[in-house]
Amino acid sequence: MKEYKMLIGGEWVSAKSGQTRDVTDPASGELLAKVPEANADDAKLAIAAARKAFDEGPWRSTPALERGKLLFKVSKAIMDNFDKFVEMEVRDCGKPRREAEFDVGDAANCFEYYGGLATKIHGQTMNTPDGSVSLIVREPIGVCGQIVPWNYPLLMSTWKLAPALAAGNCVILKPSELTPMSALELGQIFMDAGFPPGVVNIITGPGAGAGEELATNPKVDKVAFTGGTVTGKKVMQNATNNIKNVTLELGGKNPVIVFDDCNFDSAVDWTLFAAFANQGEVCSAGSRLLVQKSIHRKFVDELVKRVPRIKLGHGLNEGVVMGPLVSAAHRDKVESYIKIGIDEGAKLLCGGKRPEGKEFEKGNFVEPTIFDDVKPSMRIAREEIFGPVLSVIPFETEEEAIALANDSEYGLAAGVFTSNITRGHRVIGKIRAGITWINNYHPTYNEMPWGGYKQSGIGRELGLFGIEAYLETKQINIWLDDNPVGWY
Ligand code: NDP
Repeated sequence: MKEYKMLIGGEWVSAKSGQTRDVTDPASGELLAKVPEANADDAKLAIAAARKAFDEGPWRSTPALERGKLLFKVSKAIMDNFDKFVEMEVRDCGKPRREAEFDVGDAANCFEYYGGLATKIHGQTMNTPDGSVSLIVREPIGVCGQIVPWNYPLLMSTWKLAPALAAGNCVILKPSELTPMSALELGQIFMDAGFPPGVVNIITGPGAGAGEELATNPKVDKVAFTGGTVTGKKVMQNATNNIKNVTLELGGKNPVIVFDDCNFDSAVDWTLFAAFANQGEVCSAGSRLLVQKSIHRKFVDELVKRVPRIKLGHGLNEGVVMGPLVSAAHRDKVESYIKIGIDEGAKLLCGGKRPEGKEFEKGNFVEPTIFDDVKPSMRIAREEIFGPVLSVIPFETEEEAIALANDSEYGLAAGVFTSNITRGHRVIGKIRAGITWINNYHPTYNEMPWGGYKQSGIGRELGLFGIEAYLETKQINIWLDDNPVGWY
């Protein structure tokens, strides 16, 4: 069991109140760590440290080349500590080892990607009508509050920190109170790499106190939030306090559309991965399967036949590909949706309960669950469950599939399976979602923009768009005529 402190102004500190929170392994209930329980007062200290570092400190005038090199160091340090981060992510949020390995590798690559981009930030020159020289320059936004959820603790922190720092901002990161360990370990890496004090601050504490302060405080210039849509709305409202720049990465109820001309075997595999990767605790999870009626029965039978291949257990155990849900409270929420599905009259094909056996007794496990004959109006077809629950809705025509796919308040992700590439393009072109796949599902690239339409968010992370989100734009007009203007 490790006792952590949090990082404010280059110092490792306790919460002002002295309070701590226990962090436990969701697969076993084992106590993993104690972390400071920050409240709004601690957040204010972190904001002041970031403000000082930005307004007085050297960071924004540090040459981009140097900022980039520091980010390369962070990337290398993550890879040097690969096994440690993998184990920490498995224990902290319950994911299987194989998935944690992808997350840690992706995080290292993301720091490297933005380390490279630091030197590619550039402005423009314009030929303005009266012959002055006009420049467009890009500058960091300033102090950025960054709030991340529990499902990909290291990766979500990275997606926010890397572009913000490459662009020259100072940050206060708040991980979820459930999964704070990898963010705090990352803090040590930033210190060891030589980031000036106050450039990176990491506070641990509940959203209601510490998180809210980051969204509300007028000394914060930008708030970047990843989490549920309900919380996102609150963050956005609080950010109006000083008209903060806002980026929101929110929830989804993402459709996977399977046409009868698909590569059947491959589509079955991807559909299971779409729904059940990371226990379904994925914003982009393909949790609504729209399958053409002509293959509906055969497709669903094959899904159910393959579900037993999904081995549940502690993510560190050999062969485990599905871990527990992050907390008992979240498991209760997922189970309540399973009950709602049954009560609404959907047909439970498999799962729907906790797995039996000694190894599952202390963990928050729920079996992979598939509901068939789901009506588009049912709550399990409309609301984000954020667990291993797949809702199957049959359709007849392409038009019907598109209409069903778009019949959601969300617009984060979507997938289409068809051997007809013309149809694939045609259908994706009509889907209102920011992240889409044809004939696969889930692969994510640091080079590609991540974010949603509709109530799935505002703005994009990753890629060039990700660094744009942390840059201000300034025009500089240089008058070249020494003669007085003679206006009056
Ligand atoms: P929450 O919205 O509950 O929390 C997200 C973060 O916000 C946590 O750090 C939380 O702190 C904090 N928070 C809670 N209340 C407030 C508040 N009033 N003001 C400021 N911050 C607050 O989401 P979950 O952690 O439950 O994560 C699951 C959600 O995240 C899902 O809806 C999922 O779709 C979404 N998500 C979206 C992604 C995307 O890219 N679009 C990616 C990953 C997840 P604490 O937990 O400490 O209370």
